[in-house]
Amino acid sequence: GLRWALIGASTIARERIVAAIRAAGGNIVAVQSGNLERAEAFAADFALPLATQHLAKAVANADAVYISSTNAQHCAQTLQALDTGCHVLCEKPIAIDLADARRMIAAAGAAGRILAVNHHLRHNAVHRKIRDCIVSGQIGTPRAVIISNAGWLPGHLRGWRLSGPGAGIVLDKTVHDIDLLRFLLASDPRSVSAAFSGPNGEPPHAIMGILDFGPTLSAQFHDDFDAPFGQTRLEVIGDAGRLIAEDCLSGRPAGSLTLHDQSGPHILSIAHHDPYAALIDNFQQAARNGAPIAASGRDGAIALATALAAIQSATTGSRTQIENLP
Ligand code: NDP
Repeated sequence: GLRWALIGASTIARERIVAAIRAAGGNIVAVQSGNLERAEAFAADFALPLATQHLAKAVANADAVYISSTNAQHCAQTLQALDTGCHVLCEKPIAIDLADARRMIAAAGAAGRILAVNHHLRHNAVHRKIRDCIVSGQIGTPRAVIISNAGWLPGHLRGWRLSGPGAGIVLDKTVHDIDLLRFLLASDPRSVSAAFSGPNGEPPHAIMGILDFGPTLSAQFHDDFDAPFGQTRLEVIGDAGRLIAEDCLSGRPAGSLTLHDQSGPHILSIAHHDPYAALIDNFQQAARNGAPIAASGRDGAIALATALAAIQSATTGSRTQIENLP
């Protein structure tokens, strides 16, 4: 495995990524935080050899960095890490501004290093199975997808996500929906129509929208921070069948899948695995032997471009074209 530095002493690193890196055979050599005490506490909890406030020190003996700071810091930290020769796995959203995302992709290209984005939903076993079913024609031609990604944002995460740069539901949840749709449909959305839902407020806590994938395929998404009884759900409607997945959009190795077709409902068996460990494994293979990255910087940038178009649509009340990325 690779030698990893963690940039950000975050909840996601604590709850998922340390275990995922270790499960994939990686070695975590340092943690960086803006706050030295938090870095030290994190290092002590996970027996890491180095805690520091300085990114340059954290990456000194690392091959790769995992960036899970607040959204507004992703760009600058990625550029700095690439500059030291590290591969970068950045959290979503890749950045909060499309120009920044483009700079990050260009810097990775110039440095000859990997830039990947932690769109872990590509690695949930339910989503892999849905994609396989679509590719093998089990539901015919897909006509529509409906994603429900509403839930309750826990109290300890109600900080920077609810105010300041990079806050709001769209850069938090909608980017995941968009990336998952691109993965499942192997197609890019062209335009988006969206409305913020729930009580007015800045930034929005909830959004509902429609992505246009062409004349015969569209997708609907609903994301909400404030729905205590929300359960995630994904439905793909084809002209020869329908797939329904439930409880599949979290970070847990969870979810069920049912195929409805001519011969009735079939509950499909799913071999679950940790999506984050699978993602780290893919990243390490890409670094070691050039395997294709599941969600690249470009994928992260397309998710961001689409999310920003959704915000513009909801703000202006009109359908918005999604900016193309080369
Ligand atoms: P946290 O709020 O837990 O951590 C983000 C940053 O906030 C940390 O790097 C830390 O900064 C600072 N911080 C952490 N704890 C505290 C505290 N108690 N008081 C003050 N500041 C604190 O964020 P998340 O882990 O929820 O999210 C981090 C990133 O990961 C985001 O970009 C998010 O979008 C993404 N994410 C992705 C998920 C996925 O499945 N792909 C799931 C969840 C989040 P410092 O390190 O400088 O101390």
